[in-house]
Amino acid sequence: MQTVKTLHMLRTALAQLRAAPGTRIALVPTMGALHEGHLTLVRRARAEADHVVVSIFVNPKQFGPNEDLDAYPRQLAADAAMLEGEGVGLLWAPDAAAMYPAGFATNISVSGVSDGLCGAARPGHFDGVATVVCKLFNQVQPDMAFFGEKDFQQLAVIRTMARDLDLAAPHADRIIGVPTVRETDGLAMSSRNRYLSPEHRAAAAALPRAMQAASAALAAGAGVDETLAQLQAALLAAGFSSVDYAVLADAASLAPLDTLTDAPARLLVAARIGGTRLIDNMAVPH
Ligand code: AMP
Repeated sequence: MQTVKTLHMLRTALAQLRAAPGTRIALVPTMGALHEGHLTLVRRARAEADHVVVSIFVNPKQFGPNEDLDAYPRQLAADAAMLEGEGVGLLWAPDAAAMYPAGFATNISVSGVSDGLCGAARPGHFDGVATVVCKLFNQVQPDMAFFGEKDFQQLAVIRTMARDLDLAAPHADRIIGVPTVRETDGLAMSSRNRYLSPEHRAAAAALPRAMQAASAALAAGAGVDETLAQLQAALLAAGFSSVDYAVLADAASLAPLDTLTDAPARLLVAARIGGTRLIDNMAVPH
């Protein structure tokens, strides 16, 4: 595996990979601190493409002023070793100056789908995500890109951006969502789980458990308001300090729903425990 840190080196390495006609390249964007969730995206990418490019970039533009940018775990050597073991060909690991040179002045803002949920709780977050992902797409020009459903709203924002801007590499329908990978107790894997103390880590399993219960209740016909209130109460009782949101939404538009219909619906939650903000989402059967 080659690790490249400048755009010039990236382009040279990509030209080599593309030398064989018909070569398909997949991109897996990450912020590093890799876990089995990321590696599952890499394996899916390897199964569908000839070469996999993974990016590791802790994107300052998607962190708010009081968020964990400085504390965010960075472990490039360990991440590189994991990716090498997965058969990744190219690791794109720019620093902030390579990604945002002096004078950088462009912002991509996807309205509507970015507005609620994490967009409301983290102003500017999805502008930062859309801007960096658009740059990563243009830098790598992959045939396909893989993202986790763990960040369900992020996936919707990126698909909307790719469609609205007529992106060709990758085309919007080659943006592939991968189901959330979970720990054995159901907690969604996340680089931020390592912030949790052992006590909070054990209590955090209440999040997927309460969401499963809420999802089953909704599918069985329980009222939305009442079910979401019970879900919030269960999280607070389990040791979560606050719930940013607990919403039933249309799975495509992410518009909040007050009743379950025939259209695919998603339950999405963000809640804090021990100072760490955890997010999760699940399909609601209907
Ligand atoms: P991050 O490094 O947290 O920005 O995540 C990079 C990519 O990995 C994103 O597309 C995430 O949605 C995805 N991802 C993170 N955690 C998981 C997980 N538990 N299961 C599946 N995909 C994940």
